Amino acid sequence: MAKKQFKAESKKLLDLMVNSIYTNKEIFIRELISNASDALDKLYYKSLESGDTGIKRSDFVIRIDADKDARTLTISDNGIGMTREELEQNLGTIAKSGSLAFKQEHAEDGKDENDIVGAKAQKATDIIGQFGVGFYSAFMVADQVKVTSRAYGSEECFVWESTGSDGYTVEESEMESNGTSVVLHLKEDVEGEKFSDYLSEYTIRDLVKRYSDYIRYPIQMMVEKTQPKEGTEEDEKPEMETIHELETLNTMEPIWKRQKSKVKDEDYNEYYKSKFTDYMDPARVIRTSVEGVSSYTALMFIPGHVPYDYYTKDYEKGLQLYSSGVLIMEKCKDLLPDYFNFVKGLVDSQDLSLNISRETLQQDRQLKNIAKNLEKKIKKELVKWMKDDREGYEAFFKNFGRQMKFGLYESFGMHKDVLMDLMLFYSSSEQKMVTLDEYIERMGEDQKNIYYAPGETIEKIDMLPQTAAAKAKGYEILYMTDEIDEFAIRMVNEYKEKPFKSISDEDMTEELSEEEKEAVKKAEEENKDLLDFVKETLGGKVAEVSLSAKLADAACCLISKGGISLEMEKTINAMPTDEHISAEKVLQINPEHAVMAKLQDAFTHGAEGKERAAVIARLLYDQAALVSGLAVEDPVQLSKDICSMITQ
Ligand code: ADP
Ligand code: MG
Repeated sequence: MAKKQFKAESKKLLDLMVNSIYTNKEIFIRELISNASDALDKLYYKSLESGDTGIKRSDFVIRIDADKDARTLTISDNGIGMTREELEQNLGTIAKSGSLAFKQEHAEDGKDENDIVGAKAQKATDIIGQFGVGFYSAFMVADQVKVTSRAYGSEECFVWESTGSDGYTVEESEMESNGTSVVLHLKEDVEGEKFSDYLSEYTIRDLVKRYSDYIRYPIQMMVEKTQPKEGTEEDEKPEMETIHELETLNTMEPIWKRQKSKVKDEDYNEYYKSKFTDYMDPARVIRTSVEGVSSYTALMFIPGHVPYDYYTKDYEKGLQLYSSGVLIMEKCKDLLPDYFNFVKGLVDSQDLSLNISRETLQQDRQLKNIAKNLEKKIKKELVKWMKDDREGYEAFFKNFGRQMKFGLYESFGMHKDVLMDLMLFYSSSEQKMVTLDEYIERMGEDQKNIYYAPGETIEKIDMLPQTAAAKAKGYEILYMTDEIDEFAIRMVNEYKEKPFKSISDEDMTEELSEEEKEAVKKAEEENKDLLDFVKETLGGKVAEVSLSAKLADAACCLISKGGISLEMEKTINAMPTDEHISAEKVLQINPEHAVMAKLQDAFTHGAEGKERAAVIARLLYDQAALVSGLAVEDPVQLSKDICSMITQ
């Protein structure tokens, strides 16, 4: 059976193209400029092929003209132009891309090493078009479009005209030389949509900068300027005059495509500040080019300070995504992991398979690939930074280290290989920020664990009896003063096979010698009734009361056992949610301390003595809680207990 061709309702199809594929009307300008750029590329290509020396690339230009009275916006180029047939084919057939055909025709150019012209042409051009629909985006903003075009090498010129829905006409016209001019008559303004905005110099400038800044040819516009009138004396109040001047709106050559050796630090700094609206120079610039399955260039910056909205939910991570110098996405989230969300910058790739709207990609495999490489690159740079410029890195870590710690916690430690060696903690013995590798290097042979102490501040941690005890043992302690620290550390559990251990954990007793352990055990047995009594007196506040031989001159301390530490309890309970947790607390009493003797004594003196022992027990607990930064649950009782001690 003979196959039949699908028919298409071209009116509806056009309507779909115009109204459904783009989320943003303003991109029509990007599409028309891209077409102009393609037309110039093709002409350049042709001139190289034919050896026509009459064509000078330096003459190539894209012009934008806004006529407020006529309500028209014109985008014109002196590129290759179109014949009558090409106008019909390219603009009369939806999804027909003359540019894609051109690219395919020349796909093999320059591959043969003798094809020098082909190689040169390939290198100098970068055809953007491929879907054959971009042109129709003009109808999102225009109720009439007129395309006048004269093909290069032809004497004839034609004008294609359409209002969108009811077809088009092609007629003879006139034009001085080769090129194309697209005139849009803008739609009437309606509520919420001011199409006439596209005639304002400011808007045009902004859109060109945003989407087409790196088109290789100058995009020019006549702009109005006021300046002092000629002949004004220096000390006179100058009379102003308005002049019109042709201005190039685009940068043309992206900073990331310029030769590395030719770009100065200040250039990057200026670029960063203007494009990513920051008043401060970036702390670090990372530029990388990769050739491969997906070739790309990335230019990334690490800000010198924390953006004001960084820790709010308004902050959006992501890099700009460019394809052949044309902006595709302002914030491509998938390019950055959350824990490197502070990185700003862009990725430019010729090899992306774009979605027809050019706003997204067809598949994310390429993105994933690039993202993976970028992550490695960022990591490598951070490690290098830490080595080359520790002070700078420390400042960076102060700004963004917390985010990386969150990364450890949120991924259940999955990213520890990327993040752990980027961490810095303050060391008790070095009195400065150190890395975990540095800590491990200093560990004595018999030290099995990496010791850390969680707390609000270094000063407060130093006041804890257990800190003094660990220091006395000669251990280096890492202070964990960020709320997230202990959560992250408990998530990863160990570093290079060395377990982390909190000095406020119950099983710190493991570090005691056998004799010390024996002695404690014996003392606990002897005082079993007393310890049970203390526990009972304190009700549900503690899970255990024990003796500790490592408290030096402190009477007691509060530690925890199980998965939740005192610091974690404080952090979670301070959050504005209904979630409340409680650490399993252990009150440890120093059997060598005078308080212990008083406690024992009171305990053995009848009912009155027991009452006194209860007061001592509560006071011991409350002061240990205070030292640990916990709130006293019953201040009235505390006050009574203190009074009873005083008056006794
Ligand atoms: P695409 O650019 O993806 O090919 P468009 O709908 O934007 O799709 O354009 C369709 C075709 O029209 C282009 O491929 C090109 O052949 C032709 N064209 C559009 N604008 C111009 C122009 N300014 N000069 C020459 N040809 C053009
Ligand atoms: Mg196009």
